[in-house]
Amino acid sequence: MNESAAPDGIVVDAVTKRFGDALVVDAVSLGIVEGEFFSLLGPSGCGKTTTLRMIAGFERPDSGRVLLRGEDVTGVGAAKRNLNMVFQDYGLFPHMTVAENVGFGLRVKRVARTEARERVAETLAAMRLGGLEGRRPAQLSGGQRQRVALARALVNRPAALLLDEPLGALDFKLRKEMQLELKRLNHETGTTFVYVTHDQEEALTMSDRIAVMSNGVVEQLAAPRELYERPATAFVAGFIGVSNLLELRVDERADGHVAMRLGDGARLLAPDPGGALGATHQLTIRPERIRIEPDDAAGWSRLPGCVADVVYLGSMTQLLVDLDHDGGRLVAHCLADDEPGTRLRPGDPVVLGWPADRSFVIGSG
Ligand code: ATP
Repeated sequence: MNESAAPDGIVVDAVTKRFGDALVVDAVSLGIVEGEFFSLLGPSGCGKTTTLRMIAGFERPDSGRVLLRGEDVTGVGAAKRNLNMVFQDYGLFPHMTVAENVGFGLRVKRVARTEARERVAETLAAMRLGGLEGRRPAQLSGGQRQRVALARALVNRPAALLLDEPLGALDFKLRKEMQLELKRLNHETGTTFVYVTHDQEEALTMSDRIAVMSNGVVEQLAAPRELYERPATAFVAGFIGVSNLLELRVDERADGHVAMRLGDGARLLAPDPGGALGATHQLTIRPERIRIEPDDAAGWSRLPGCVADVVYLGSMTQLLVDLDHDGGRLVAHCLADDEPGTRLRPGDPVVLGWPADRSFVIGSG
């Protein structure tokens, strides 16, 4: 890959790792820009932790290289990489106070006592832990413990902070708060964050860019909006949100659009992905972009179907609709006050529609 993509940051260059016969990370390349919030996102077992551990230096790649600020560190051990990793179980020393836990790394590095004291105080303030210096980990809440673990990593002023599902043990509300807190810290300190998660909403909330992984490979690396609106693969479309995939064959081409037939029934329009007439493509339409009983306007796709289920979710109602002519099932989201959608019942006939440009042909971006 092009190393100049991130000369100051972290470059992972065609890195491969096997455990026995299992190919766990398969020629993964990433250019992580200095200061950005970068996430590795994917289902359990896809190789994200192993990739992070190779960046950290806890695991040695079978082939490929890792570069830190332009320097090849592939053969350099974790302790010499000026990176800090934060784990889900925090790893705090139970017999030490908060201040001692946070200052531990500085003591090991023999930083002068006055400077160490100042840096600890500064980091505790940034982590909103002022007043808790004298407590031991057992006297803290889960969120406070998590913040101590982060303070302990940040006080060393690492080139990058590597975080492996660090919020997994927290309850929902605290997790949401800590997500915003981590994003704030990334902005305020300018430290590069590399974050591993299997939670797509968490990754979307915090990240500047996300690498979506599956089976040891990167399916797509892009900003959150790009991943959601222009997914490169069916896997990405389905992992980030509801994909509503329709498999279609191109029949006609006109005015920048193609017309496609769904099964032996309805025709629909889509942005032109190029390629030959007769080729098959996968189309994705996000649930919130579907209108119920739309006007018969030019440039819209209109598909008749039958309501299979209606799920009330508070802020919205989710409709499951089986399209006519065995066209498959679509999920549509209607806001709670969206009349046509919310008064439907299972078994009702319905027409779904959307402007062609709001749908996306997979891989055409
Ligand atoms: P999770 O979210 O569950 O942690 P992950 O995407 O981080 O998953 P990895 O932890 O990187 O995935 O693991 C990828 C695969 O490699 C898994 O099948 C795992 O069992 C295997 N694996 C990881 N570490 C080792 C090891 N030291 N020895 C053998 N197999 C391993």
